[in-house]
Amino acid sequence: MRTQAILLVLLLAAGCAGGAPLAPPPDVVLYNGKILTVDRAFSVARAVAIRGERVIAVGDDATVRALAGPATRQVDLRGRTVIPGLIDSHLHNAGGGPGVDLSRVRSIDELLAAVTARTKNAAPGELIVSNSDWHEAQLREKRLPHLRELDRVAPRNPVVLVRGGHEFIINSAAAERWNITRETKSPPGGEIGHDPGGGLNGELVDTARSLVKLPPPPELTAEAVEAQMKLLNTVGLTGIRIPGSFRLGGDAVEPYRIFQQLKAEGRLTMRVNYLMRIYDFSSVDKVRALIASWNVRPDEGDEWLRIGGMKTLVDGGFEGGHMREPYAEPYGRGGTFKGIEVVPPSQYIPVVLELNRVGWRVATHAVGDAAVDEVLDAYEAADRERSIRGRRWTIEHFFIARPDHFPRVRALDVAVAAQDHLYLAAPSVAKYWGRARAERVTPMRTFIDQGLLVGGGTDSPVIPYNPFWSMYHFITRDTISDGVYGAAERITREEALRASTINNARITFEEELKGSIEPGKLADLVVLSADYLSVPESEIQRLAALATMIGGKLVYIDPAARAELGALR
Ligand SMILES: [Zn+2]
Repeated sequence: MRTQAILLVLLLAAGCAGGAPLAPPPDVVLYNGKILTVDRAFSVARAVAIRGERVIAVGDDATVRALAGPATRQVDLRGRTVIPGLIDSHLHNAGGGPGVDLSRVRSIDELLAAVTARTKNAAPGELIVSNSDWHEAQLREKRLPHLRELDRVAPRNPVVLVRGGHEFIINSAAAERWNITRETKSPPGGEIGHDPGGGLNGELVDTARSLVKLPPPPELTAEAVEAQMKLLNTVGLTGIRIPGSFRLGGDAVEPYRIFQQLKAEGRLTMRVNYLMRIYDFSSVDKVRALIASWNVRPDEGDEWLRIGGMKTLVDGGFEGGHMREPYAEPYGRGGTFKGIEVVPPSQYIPVVLELNRVGWRVATHAVGDAAVDEVLDAYEAADRERSIRGRRWTIEHFFIARPDHFPRVRALDVAVAAQDHLYLAAPSVAKYWGRARAERVTPMRTFIDQGLLVGGGTDSPVIPYNPFWSMYHFITRDTISDGVYGAAERITREEALRASTINNARITFEEELKGSIEPGKLADLVVLSADYLSVPESEIQRLAALATMIGGKLVYIDPAARAELGALR
């Protein structure tokens, strides 16, 4: 990185004719700041000028301010740091919902108290369901509640705790309602959890969750989606890539239509790259019929809302990622359990081939190293029919990488969407996979050194949506409750910021439009509470957005910063 006075003025064609070279003045100039442009050289500038929805100049104070006209609003940043709008390349939604909120509980007792509070007001037999945005690693005990513990606080009400996107925990009343006994066989691609003694422990993993029939979530409204976008703006996010389901388990096309409605009404405060999703891989004909029923074309849309491809999956999460080596004991069951093939290659590969034939770019959830093997096998088969190079197909998560993966990934030009699961879930990951393997989860240093395109994100609501937590974790490899995991995989602040800005723009083919603060690009930027480059490392996770701008328009301002930055609007 280097600090320099650069002047890059974009002379728009308009106004240049007939010896009138002056372009119209900017609407707003931010000056006396530290602008981390995230351009190719990682230049740091002092000022930025914006007209309409674009950046028109970046450089030193004098030159950029000289462009101002009488109506230009000038904002003195008083040394504040500005970064490009942050982008999360794997975010389902902001969490929350009508279920029991477990996102803030910090022990098993607090979790049980939250369930008790709900059962107290429930009718006998009424179903109690939790929101999904919590994880046992946030609990002091670092374990899931047991079926018998739930029975204690809910003897008469069926309870289903939804945890992330791969697991339910149920009580006895729920097991009874859906006829799940200690003898029930785990369905293919799933696991019913048992105690060492053979009794149910309450855990239903991956496809075993389908034994439980939850009522459909309440109707998704434009207002609810709008409220979520606003929440994401408060942490500096200006772009998200939604991997196939805005609601976990929900239909893919319905939220997309709501985003289209919000866009048509000018109510989007977030640029959305939306992936459609295949759930049923049982036949290529079904996939073909499903796609036809959507009436959605690959890559349709514009810089506000664009279809980004098709999300598929092959394995589970922490408790079901498909590995080359067995899980740590007792989960390895004497060296025999290597995770869950949620979709077998015999079904996955034909679907991938079909998607490639009809022009869809593919993004696949793969957590374990064996899952990545399967994805690469399928992508290579597709590539032989019609090259996928230059089309930025992705692997989502890619927790466990092996040296033999990298040449294959490079040859296919495949990108990686990586997240900070380890920050929250490290103790659980170590429990299932062993400490040594947990230390190697999401190897950002290795991905970058191997020359892969890797974008950052959170997988919210599985992990909270704060991008500064994710960047902090990638920079330090620190975790919430269990110290540093895999210090060799630390990356620099510059690399972490690139991962959450320009690299994510690249994954969606938008690197000429956004992801850095440069003349001609969309004016998506964030004024920060402190200097990202020089705050002590431990403070990176506490950075906050004072103001977030999208396309030159303010979409969030910290009330406390209103006086200082009031000229932004
Ligand atoms: Zn996800």
